Amino acid sequence: MIILKTEEEIELLRKANLLVSATLAEIAKIVRPGVTTRQLDTLAEQFIRDHGAIPTFKGFPASFKDAGPFPASICTSVNHVVIHGIPDDKPLCDGDIVSVDCGTFLDGFCGDSCYTFCVGEVAPEVRQLLRTTKESLYRGIAAAFPGNRLGDIGAAVQQHCEAQGYGVVREFVGHGIGREMHEDPAVPNYGHRGSGKALKNGLCIAIEPMITMGSREVALLPDYWGVTTRDLRPAAHFEHTIAIHNGKPDILSTFEPIEAIEGKLY
Ligand code: MG
Ligand code: MG
Repeated sequence: MIILKTEEEIELLRKANLLVSATLAEIAKIVRPGVTTRQLDTLAEQFIRDHGAIPTFKGFPASFKDAGPFPASICTSVNHVVIHGIPDDKPLCDGDIVSVDCGTFLDGFCGDSCYTFCVGEVAPEVRQLLRTTKESLYRGIAAAFPGNRLGDIGAAVQQHCEAQGYGVVREFVGHGIGREMHEDPAVPNYGHRGSGKALKNGLCIAIEPMITMGSREVALLPDYWGVTTRDLRPAAHFEHTIAIHNGKPDILSTFEPIEAIEGKLY
């Protein structure tokens, strides 16, 4: 069931999402070779709690029966890990990329956004993957207005990425968001123009392209959380939470503070 949001609810969602963006900006300040993903997680959890919110991901129930609840406050997915990487004590290396997905629960509403960071000097072809994935997110967002359909969002993302030979992951998708982190509808990063549910004012969704440099086939790590590319080539993940608001897409999270810190790395 799709729950359309009121003006007041959209503003609460914006607050939760701006806290996610601020958290990712804190991470941008310290991402460098030698830092561990556990250090990023510790920083994120403290920052979120210091701002009166709860990290939504911590303790999030698993979709696979053999997995325990998610043990950390952020997902840190390095290189060939696409999504749901569990933070650990392995230092990041020069040339790595790390997708940091973050969720907050603030005043009854959820924030959810992800950014793929460069660690030191990253190869030009990998930076191109990041650039294209981020561009595809904004193309998907640009298709999110009343009168269009869900398939228009997915088609915009898919066409932009596949035109450059990249893979679009099928097994994991974006989602509605509100009082719950995952609400209806599912928001695939692939699809056909003019297909799927009609988009309406008040619809709040997370759009999150997960794009692979090679094959789009994915595999599950033995921890039952991390999802990798099967060919072990890199993958990128960018996510914004948006509202369809007053007849157009309104981006509730923001990359601006991250990009201000990171500069023009790619
Ligand atoms: Mg997310
Ligand atoms: Mg999400």
